[in-house]
Amino acid sequence: MQTKFDNNYHSILLKRYPISKNNSLQAWNAADSYLLEYLQSNFSLEENNKILIVNDAFGALTLSLNYFNPISLTDSFMSRKAIELNAQTNTLYHKPNIAYHLNNSSMKFDFILIKSPKILDYLDETLTYLSPYTHEKTVILIAGMVKNMPKTLWNLLENRFGPTKTSLTKKKAKVIQLKIENKQNQSQYPIHFVQENTCLKIYSFANVFSKKTLDIGTRFLLQNTPDFTEINSIIDLGCGNGIIGVNLALKYPQAKISFVDESYSAIKSAQLTCQENLDNTNLYQFNINDSLTGFTSNSTDLIVCNPPFHQSHDLSIDTALKMFQQSFTTLVKGGRFIVIANRHLPYYSPLKRIFNNCKTLATNRKFNLFIMIK
Ligand code: SAM
Repeated sequence: MQTKFDNNYHSILLKRYPISKNNSLQAWNAADSYLLEYLQSNFSLEENNKILIVNDAFGALTLSLNYFNPISLTDSFMSRKAIELNAQTNTLYHKPNIAYHLNNSSMKFDFILIKSPKILDYLDETLTYLSPYTHEKTVILIAGMVKNMPKTLWNLLENRFGPTKTSLTKKKAKVIQLKIENKQNQSQYPIHFVQENTCLKIYSFANVFSKKTLDIGTRFLLQNTPDFTEINSIIDLGCGNGIIGVNLALKYPQAKISFVDESYSAIKSAQLTCQENLDNTNLYQFNINDSLTGFTSNSTDLIVCNPPFHQSHDLSIDTALKMFQQSFTTLVKGGRFIVIANRHLPYYSPLKRIFNNCKTLATNRKFNLFIMIK
């Protein structure tokens, strides 16, 4: 569903990406509107201001402020895609400038506009990373929906970075203005844990799934995936910190393994996990991508997946369904697809429909482990 996002800077048309079957989800929320309104009422932007936008999911902020040619910093390939696609349906002054990281710390921003992320550690990591890019007068605004902004958010900001000023609540959204006074914070990331009953060190940056321990679903998958013969190519789909792929690399030392994730932090983490645990690192490829888009059909012997069931703050199985369909296409005939799923998720029917077979390898109170053969 494409809808108009009216705001004081530049009204724009926006769609969510990937296009959701749930039409009630729109591509911006009250926190985007409030952030722009707060910015306009309290500051006057000038053409030469340097503006950084962080965590803009679909382009609401990046495209509304396009006249000022901001840099949009994101960890997400899907957000990058969404902003690029939404840019095509609007009349803009500049091609959007979207980045996964900044590489010139002599650059200083006048305004840093942040959509508060779901993971507080990630906000901490982001602000620590951005501190060198601020000057005395940099205005930092962090906007979010009150239900996603716990008290610990303010503790984090004030204890680690500097004083805050908080707006009134409007349509259940708030804007926090932060002044970074302490620029000396050290990032604690990447962190690692040692996987139980192994010597594997699993590395993660802040925005990565289950970064401090082995996820119980992943554990169930690793414990119950059988050994196969003739496995020469594997995909760890939605690899996170790479824990599944690195375990498979030990089982199948000759196999080529592709680690695929839409998160830049996940791909950096998987790369580090491989470097630290495996020798023959030229067998491994790392792809920041939307599922298996662009992968060669009929090319892979085994795909293993612990699929996501959230997009940002919203529940959705759309991505999982896309992963199932694309895995079917990418597998060789006779290739296997292994999926771990919370029992409440409706995966059995679509898997059975796509593969024409779906067997439960193992089950417990919380999870089903499925295997499909192409
Ligand atoms: N495999 C890891 C594990 O078991 O610990 C992580 C599993 S986590 C439940 C799902 C992963 O899918 C996340 O790392 C997320 O970033 C990734 N993901 C979400 N949407 C994706 C997409 N469209 N394409 C590729 N990966 C995606």
